[in-house]
Amino acid sequence: MEILVCVKRVPDTSENEIEINSDGSDIERDDLVYSVNEWDNYAVEEAIQIRDNVGGSVTVVTVGDEEDEEVLRREMAMGADNGILISDDAFEGSDGKGIASILKAEIEKGKYDLIMTGAQADAGAGQVGGMLAAMMDLPYASLVNSIDIIDDKKIKAGREVEGGNQEMNEIDLPCVLSIQTGINEPRYVGIRGIRKVASVEIPVHGASDLGIDASSVGENGAKVKRLDYYLPDLGEGAEMLEGSTDEIVEKMIELLKSKGGIK
Ligand SMILES: Cc1cc2nc3c(=O)[nH]c(=O)nc-3n(C[C@H](O)[C@H](O)[C@H](O)COP(=O)(O)OP(=O)(O)OC[C@H]3O[C@@H](n4cnc5c(N)ncnc54)[C@H](O)[C@@H]3O)c2cc1C
Repeated sequence: MEILVCVKRVPDTSENEIEINSDGSDIERDDLVYSVNEWDNYAVEEAIQIRDNVGGSVTVVTVGDEEDEEVLRREMAMGADNGILISDDAFEGSDGKGIASILKAEIEKGKYDLIMTGAQADAGAGQVGGMLAAMMDLPYASLVNSIDIIDDKKIKAGREVEGGNQEMNEIDLPCVLSIQTGINEPRYVGIRGIRKVASVEIPVHGASDLGIDASSVGENGAKVKRLDYYLPDLGEGAEMLEGSTDEIVEKMIELLKSKGGIK
């Protein structure tokens, strides 16, 4: 089975204090520690497990710049066979539709049975997987938390549904799935694995390689424009707990006890 997983490099929220930049248009991105989007890491682990069971290959792809190449190498150290960096100045400032159309152009250059995205990434839009499937006229399932390969034409995919319910679907291949965290336990990637793929050549594809009209993507092609970016004012009665983690937990327990939430 030929599997393609779309991965994105995002700020690591466990390693950074996220602040809004001075003109209020975005978060402050200087000096942030980045890592692979958590949902995408689960998708890559799932793809590797499927390949190991039924054969085939796993390709990881990202739309970004040369710095984003590091997440491709990380996922290749984890076990993906190939990486593709899609990069072009024309792609900068793309909205979700732009990213999906760029990925579509890359996917059409290959022959993939299964295409996976994360359920969401750092902007939390959750748009790319669904848009990609619609643009490619492929079946799609979101929030997938289990995959069983029936044969080379069909899979069974479980979906996490509201209220803790589970839904099972039979889906024709090729298809697009957006993967929910918890579908598996991603393996640890050690420094030795990273070193092993450090010198592997990763192809870079730009707008002309993919036959993309540069005016249809990037900031000019974006149909969703961010107007503002801010922390909402604290609501009436909201209280920010200050202190160390232990102190905050202690205060939280006292508050819950005083309100009758716990005894
Ligand atoms: C006007 C505008 C300007 C923007 N400018 C920038 C910018 O300059 N730089 C920037 O980084 N973002 C920019 N963005 C945000 C960017 O478009 C988002 O990354 C995109 O909309 C996807 O949203 P998301 O991250 O919430 O992804 P979701 O749709 O939540 O992501 C779901 C999945 O899609 C896949 N995916 C998402 N993005 C990528 C990618 N880049 N490569 C491969 N797979 C991917 C991953 O599998 C991911 O798990 C801009 C958005 C707008 C509206």
